[in-house]
Amino acid sequence: MNAVIIGGGIIGLSSAYYLQKRGWQITLLDKTDLSDNCSYGNLGMIVPSHFVPMASPGMVAQGIRWMLNRKSPFYVKPSLNSDLIRWGLKFIKTSTVTNVERAATPLMNLNLYSKSLYEELCKTPGFDFGMENKGILMYYKTARFEAEERHLAGKAKRMGLDAEPLTKQQVQALEPETELDILGAVHYRCDAHLYPDKLIAQLIQSLEASGVSIVRNTEVKKMVSEKGVIKKLITQNGEYKADLVVIAGGAMLPQLTRMANINIPLMPGKGYSFTYKNPTHTLNIPAILCEARVAITPMNGYMRYGGTMEIAPVNKSINLNRVQGIVQSVPRYFPGIRLAMPAKHEIWYGFRPCSPDGLPYLGRTNKIKNLIVAGGHAMMGLSLGAASGKIVADLANDEKPQVNIDVFEPERFGN
Ligand SMILES: Cc1cc2nc3c(=O)[nH]c(=O)nc-3n(C[C@H](O)[C@H](O)[C@H](O)COP(=O)(O)OP(=O)(O)OC[C@H]3O[C@@H](n4cnc5c(N)ncnc54)[C@H](O)[C@@H]3O)c2cc1C
Repeated sequence: MNAVIIGGGIIGLSSAYYLQKRGWQITLLDKTDLSDNCSYGNLGMIVPSHFVPMASPGMVAQGIRWMLNRKSPFYVKPSLNSDLIRWGLKFIKTSTVTNVERAATPLMNLNLYSKSLYEELCKTPGFDFGMENKGILMYYKTARFEAEERHLAGKAKRMGLDAEPLTKQQVQALEPETELDILGAVHYRCDAHLYPDKLIAQLIQSLEASGVSIVRNTEVKKMVSEKGVIKKLITQNGEYKADLVVIAGGAMLPQLTRMANINIPLMPGKGYSFTYKNPTHTLNIPAILCEARVAITPMNGYMRYGGTMEIAPVNKSINLNRVQGIVQSVPRYFPGIRLAMPAKHEIWYGFRPCSPDGLPYLGRTNKIKNLIVAGGHAMMGLSLGAASGKIVADLANDEKPQVNIDVFEPERFGN
């Protein structure tokens, strides 16, 4: 049996990895040379702690407040773009307690499953991507965020996660070299981190060594379907036929599924990161600065800082105000860490594939028999990558995945 996978980010590569292990002949098509996509410059956090989807109560009001601030971490670019308007209306509708409750356990289970698969993968010859199980510290400076984070930590504990609210003194014991200006932090010991650039490069290397055909600079432009089956994919470099098609196109997911007459609402959520290769200061444990929504990860001696979420169609501009927002937020928590503003060419950006309810799309579709959709993982794609790939392979073999994926159904918003 042969499969064509569209997209060589973490989701497409993981799908290729687990499918080829099950004996599938794989061709992976990507429109780029695979030297960059959203799966490279991210913060590398593996996050069972992130069981609350972005579409949650309070997010709409908070989002509107943030839109008034040029340096804020969240921004919806006002526009008459019809995809954005439809997405926004669905986002508002799904930002409810019900959405959070139905999502929490499936998201946590998918993240835990993925973490266990990464733990297995990092012991496999050819893989060494700096995975560390030190958890993540969620830092807060204000009473409001302390209350929210402690409440969430309580919920996490009841769900079985290893989460501990810490006083400033307890945090100081974990980061003795770092001056702190915080109220406290929650330590999610259940979380982990890795170096995504290495993981992606090693997956590509391993796949090519095991005979997977990775075809670069080849954009899928059209799909020809007959009687509910995709018969061929048309690219500028020729046509491809397959028993199974996996769409893993990241932020371009809707453009691809539309070629198969399937409507999947999704918007790109642009984020920035920059990496200091000779940092003057290193943290021991990855950090999320709650009020600022900034993430910091130590990676193999490097330090990577990142954040912001700009919901807007794909565009290549760099908004220096938001990057400055990241830079300026750091000394508010760590007075001893004064970052130099990175030069434009040192700023990486990627487009998170954001669904309106904050949940991935993962599964077969009703309309097309030989299609699996895998995407829309928003701020958790790296974390959920291994499990998503494994589940694609299970579905391809008509086997039941180890975790329940009902809430991730790709056609849940209808056509
Ligand atoms: C600043 C930032 C920090 C982040 N931090 C984290 C984190 O700490 N932990 C975490 O879990 N996640 C994090 N994320 C999110 C994570 O990076 C994404 O969810 C993930 O990379 C998405 O992977 P993907 O494979 O779906 O998409 P991508 O990596 O974007 O890959 C999609 C691929 O599809 C290809 N493609 C698209 N259309 C076509 C076509 N027509 N034909 C051929 N190829 C096509 C593209 O070229 C691309 O290579 C972060 C994101 C950002 C921006």
